[in-house]
Amino acid sequence: MSTLTRADWEARAKALKIEGRALIHGEHCDAVSGETFDCISPVDGRFLTTVASCDAADAELAVRDARATFESGVWSRMTPVERKKIMIRFADLMDAHAEELALLETLDMGKPISDALGVDVPGASRAIRWSGEAIDKIYDEVAATPHNELGLVTREPVGVVAAIVPWNFPMIMTCWKLGPALATGNSVIVKPSEKSPLTAIRMAQLALEAGIPAGVLNILPGFGHTVGKALALHMDVDTLVFTGSTKIAKQLMIYAGESNMKRVWLEAGGKSANIVFADAPNLQDAAEAAAAAICFNQGEMCTAGSRLLVERSIKDQFMPMVLEAMKGWKAGYALEPATKVGALVDGGHLNTVLSYIEAGHADKAKLLCGGKRVLEETGGVYVEPTIFDDAHNDMRIAKEEIFGPVLTVIPFDTTEEAIAIANDSIYGLAAAIWTSNLSKAHLAAKALRVGSMWVNQYDGGDMTAPFGGFKQSGNGRDKSLHAFDKYTELKATWIKL
Ligand code: NAD
Ligand code: MN
Repeated sequence: MSTLTRADWEARAKALKIEGRALIHGEHCDAVSGETFDCISPVDGRFLTTVASCDAADAELAVRDARATFESGVWSRMTPVERKKIMIRFADLMDAHAEELALLETLDMGKPISDALGVDVPGASRAIRWSGEAIDKIYDEVAATPHNELGLVTREPVGVVAAIVPWNFPMIMTCWKLGPALATGNSVIVKPSEKSPLTAIRMAQLALEAGIPAGVLNILPGFGHTVGKALALHMDVDTLVFTGSTKIAKQLMIYAGESNMKRVWLEAGGKSANIVFADAPNLQDAAEAAAAAICFNQGEMCTAGSRLLVERSIKDQFMPMVLEAMKGWKAGYALEPATKVGALVDGGHLNTVLSYIEAGHADKAKLLCGGKRVLEETGGVYVEPTIFDDAHNDMRIAKEEIFGPVLTVIPFDTTEEAIAIANDSIYGLAAAIWTSNLSKAHLAAKALRVGSMWVNQYDGGDMTAPFGGFKQSGNGRDKSLHAFDKYTELKATWIKL
């Protein structure tokens, strides 16, 4: 626990030196075009820095350098045990700079400072450390060959990886890609979101300090339709890994098809169902989890529990408990350590969230709490946690990903109906069920078409378990050893003895 006060964070924010330039081959550089964009904090509207606005020319330089670095073997052919040491040093440096990284993250994208420090930094450094620790413990295979032949099944790094990442967990999403990509020996180009470029740049400086050779990790800040598109269309990027919206994920598959058929791995949106049955072991726990599931990180969560499905027989008892739990999740100034719901990422996103609240009213869902912009006097972008009750699954607030603290409550009568509603979504990222019936829990868990399934809890997980989606929530998985598959090609070598 940090003992820093709001005043301490303010003072540090004033003294903070912020780097907004790209990083190619270990050197900071402006965009080739000289273009920049302003980085404005959603916490209070303060100007943070200008950021290099990279485009195709910068992508060309970075890919060429990443390729040359890969071919040189300086990282790709380093022994796993050496790569491991350097990655652990990188993770240690992130932890040593936790307060600085957390402050950058909060200023850049608005999340509560206590979460940035308590969740984002340790989550990011753990992804790097875990992947580094794993790499000298993974073996390749020998096939079941005749005695005069030898069949080897080996993994090789793919080469040049481009990682395009979102703004909701900028460090963690980046490190879920960087951990396995770097551990397996690739060269990586990160394209952070234009809404949150700052921590990626700072982390790359720490990676260099840890001993990751120049050219292995390059950072190209800029917009999706410029530098993001250029990377996705580049003929010499071997693998593209992405976290972001389903709309852009689909576009990236098109870019790959139009260019070099680069491998494309996508972690996309969600509209996850949190299903509370009448036989839940503890309704109080379920109510608190339901509130946290939509309020944590301002609801800017791919796995937000944005559809709360409640068995009708307990609904009148349960919803007042949820409302009570929501009172613990007030929007507050993001640099105040007690704040649990910070600023939305920017004014454009605020308008999107407010337009969904209007859609809820228009569809005649029942507003139970929230619904308005707040704390305007701070100069920041804040919205009240909001609940719509008595909704139907065909309303826009039940179908579309809002990516804000707006909860849609849908009643149901039977287990079959609950599963059908939950599965009636283009998404399949996650779901939770609350029940004390063991068979029901297992059967429902199997029936729900999602990549992450929670029973009597919401949002469990760790680096040890794969994370990703079914359906239009994406393909491939981040985290766990399964993620290493995305960053390696399998080779079969057949030898006559
Ligand atoms: P987004 O799709 O708008 O942007 C994601 C990234 O793609 C950004 O870096 C952006 O600049 C880039 N981009 C945009 N257009 C592009 C183009 N034409 N070519 C190449 N790159 C382009 O998403 P966002 O608003 O940053 O993030 C929110 C989304 O991310 C939500 O849908 C959320 O569910 C999803 N998300 C998913 C996961 C997961 O693991 N499944 C985790 C976090 C967030
Ligand atoms: Mn920002």
